[in-house]
Amino acid sequence: MQQSREPKPGNAAVAWEAGKPLVIETVEVAPPQKMEVRLKILYTSLCHTDVFFWEAKGQNPLFPRILGHEAGGIVESIGEGVTDVEPGDHVLPVFTGECKECVHCKSEESNMCNLLRINTDRGVMIHDEKSRFSINGKPIFHFVGTSTFSEYTVVHVGCVAKINPLAPLDKVCVLSCGISTGLGATLNVAKPPKGSTVAVFGLGAVGLAAAEGARIAGASRIIGVDLNSNRFELAKKFGVTEFVNPKEHNKPVQEVIAEMTDGGVDRSIECTGHIDAMISAFECVHDGWGVAVLVGVPTKDAVFKTHPINLLNERTLKGTFFGNYKPRSDLPSIVEKYMNKELELEKFITHEVPFTEINKAFDYMLKGDGLRCIIRMDG
Ligand code: NAD
Ligand code: ZN
Repeated sequence: MQQSREPKPGNAAVAWEAGKPLVIETVEVAPPQKMEVRLKILYTSLCHTDVFFWEAKGQNPLFPRILGHEAGGIVESIGEGVTDVEPGDHVLPVFTGECKECVHCKSEESNMCNLLRINTDRGVMIHDEKSRFSINGKPIFHFVGTSTFSEYTVVHVGCVAKINPLAPLDKVCVLSCGISTGLGATLNVAKPPKGSTVAVFGLGAVGLAAAEGARIAGASRIIGVDLNSNRFELAKKFGVTEFVNPKEHNKPVQEVIAEMTDGGVDRSIECTGHIDAMISAFECVHDGWGVAVLVGVPTKDAVFKTHPINLLNERTLKGTFFGNYKPRSDLPSIVEKYMNKELELEKFITHEVPFTEINKAFDYMLKGDGLRCIIRMDG
């Protein structure tokens, strides 16, 4: 297989400073090294995790950086040792990888690959600890091994899932993070039995995908919790049957939910990233059998505090990245579910902007307007 040795110039949206609008720049993208692939990104979308690390309020700042991790693209060239994909393959890059060799990849329970698990503080490639992006020789940092806000990006081959080339990348790109995460958090981790009651904290795309999972599992009641009451109308399309806004009550939301459900919900899934919601999501599950799953990415100094009796009373607390899916092994079949019309993605896509207007996608998310905004790289 011929390997590309040429750097490739392309447009990228660079975050120069925390919280400042991204700037479209011409970036030189170095050729892929050992076990790496260079991708041409066609569509990317914005997930709240990008916004958290761009704001860098509760996270370690690392700038200048190319953010972005929810995307779809085509393999442009491959580096030494790559045999699983070839130029022209359609792929979804994923922020957490699968080396297929470590104890986690060999375990049926884990997707926390030793080599390629999410690392939000690393801004370089694993192979040589260097960046593949530069502007006039000045390196620009990577983000979670994907950096998809760029026409071309270099990723480890273990962080790409090869998918059906007939799948529309402008739709299935949302499976590369948010929708798979929420769906898997419910179906693979919370595992609500048929007829159970489920609470979902945070009704963004991740939370509504968790609600969709609860609907698929046959939950009888799905209680959506959000500080933004505008979310409820939208949430009904995803099977949410009741809505609670914590701001409208003068007692903790876990008590409100306990009263609504005669002691607590059977399962809860937290998709906000806020520590108070994480604690409420745990404390609102029924004693004896309730299971709570944390999905939101917390600030770096967050501390989870609850009385141990809440655990002794037989409640279970879990957490997950990427809904416990193994990206390379499991993502192609989730794409097939969309192709077979068993999974609807269109209802998660509420906005679309050309790449030159990427900052609008940030505005929509900061305002809580809509769910996913697709960013077209050719625009
Ligand atoms: P989003 O901004 O679209 O949605 C979050 C929702 O939570 C908003 O509607 C907001 O109003 C609501 N909210 C915020 N604080 C709240 C609180 N205290 N109580 C109730 N509701 C509250 O974000 P998203 O893209 O859906 O992502 C949701 C979370 O999931 C983020 O923290 C993101 O970083 C995280 N995430 C985790 C993984 C993973 O693998 N674990 C993957 C993707 C995203
Ligand atoms: Zn994400």
